[in-house]
Amino acid sequence: MKAKVFLKIFLFISLLRSSRSTTEGTCSRDESGECGDDDAMKEKARNKYSQESNTKWAHHLAQIEDSIASYKNCDPEKCSCHYPLIKKDLAVFKNGIGKDVLQAARDSFPTMYGIEHFILKVIDKLPDLEMVVNTRDWPQVDYRFGKKLPVFSFSKTSTYLDITYPAWTFWEGGPAIGLYPMGLGRWDLLRKSLRTASEKWPWEVKESKGFFRGSRTSAERDPLVYLSREEPDLVDAQYTKNQAWKSDADTLYAPPASEVPLEDHCQYKYLFNFRGVAASFRFKHLFLCHSLVFHSGDEWIEFFYPRMKPWVHFTKNLRTYPKELLKFAMENDDVAMAIAERGYEFIRDHLRMKDVLCYWRKLLQSYAELLQYKPVKEAGVYEVRPRM
Ligand code: UDP
Repeated sequence: MKAKVFLKIFLFISLLRSSRSTTEGTCSRDESGECGDDDAMKEKARNKYSQESNTKWAHHLAQIEDSIASYKNCDPEKCSCHYPLIKKDLAVFKNGIGKDVLQAARDSFPTMYGIEHFILKVIDKLPDLEMVVNTRDWPQVDYRFGKKLPVFSFSKTSTYLDITYPAWTFWEGGPAIGLYPMGLGRWDLLRKSLRTASEKWPWEVKESKGFFRGSRTSAERDPLVYLSREEPDLVDAQYTKNQAWKSDADTLYAPPASEVPLEDHCQYKYLFNFRGVAASFRFKHLFLCHSLVFHSGDEWIEFFYPRMKPWVHFTKNLRTYPKELLKFAMENDDVAMAIAERGYEFIRDHLRMKDVLCYWRKLLQSYAELLQYKPVKEAGVYEVRPRM
């Protein structure tokens, strides 16, 4: 009986070319958690800040009010909050996935236990299926190339038709740095250690300063690092080494900074997230500090990003003017804390290990329905089965 379960999925991994909620929509909530009608809430929010602050930051305050008013909460227990992305990703294959299409997407087969771990947890709920999994950062199916290939990738932009799956780093195999020599992973454990760290540094105790540590995986991070060099009291943002580091040129002409554990990020009020090669694994961790996340750019997503909204859960980081938003946050401390708290609650409630598992299950069940043939194990494919 068990052997049959082990044989259920054939996982093809491809290298390819490049290496407290309300009922939905019925009420608005202010920062204190009170519920009321939209106009009353907006009026209350407006009166809360000084006239000077209201005038100077009217644009951002209005954006925040509008974003909160239009945000609809979702009941995580129904396991459907992240489902719209599965529907959207698979709509490309609404006419089914034939053997020929899968063959075209397949190439070679390294294994990735951070993926297998989740598949094995839901394998009993799935029919036999085969899939092509891209284990690189970069997505593979650019719609401008015309071919609609069903390739699973952890991150993409709207230019790509890849089917989004939860990254391996929820379990293991994330970026290997000095602090995580075996690779960042074990989201279940980090959720706990970050919670403990955030209890040590509640909002009132946190330093009112921006903070970033990471390597120069994209130049989008440069303006913040420059700002930190000019105004070190405002923000401490420094580049660390990664495997590709060759000289100080790779850390923007400064010696690489020491790495800082994610838990120690919690002592700062404002934490920054930028894309790296693709979406950065950093993002989900920052919220658990109860710090305000400045998220730069909305192009690169992981599976849980679409449910998160700017100004509701995080602050948009205007790429080239991080200073303006930092000043806004510093001068509107209550607003900043409320956004940080909503971001924290979202990740706490919607990105539990069971939500990740639920996404895998729904994704693979929906995908399996599109397969137009019965998979048989062929030479060279990687079969997902429990490790002994
Ligand atoms: N990281 C960290 N402390 C550091 C540098 C990096 O915890 O001092 C983490 C970071 O949060 C991210 C991962 O290591 O999750 C890789 O970071 P990097 O900037 O090298 O690459 P990214 O994946 O963000 O492009």
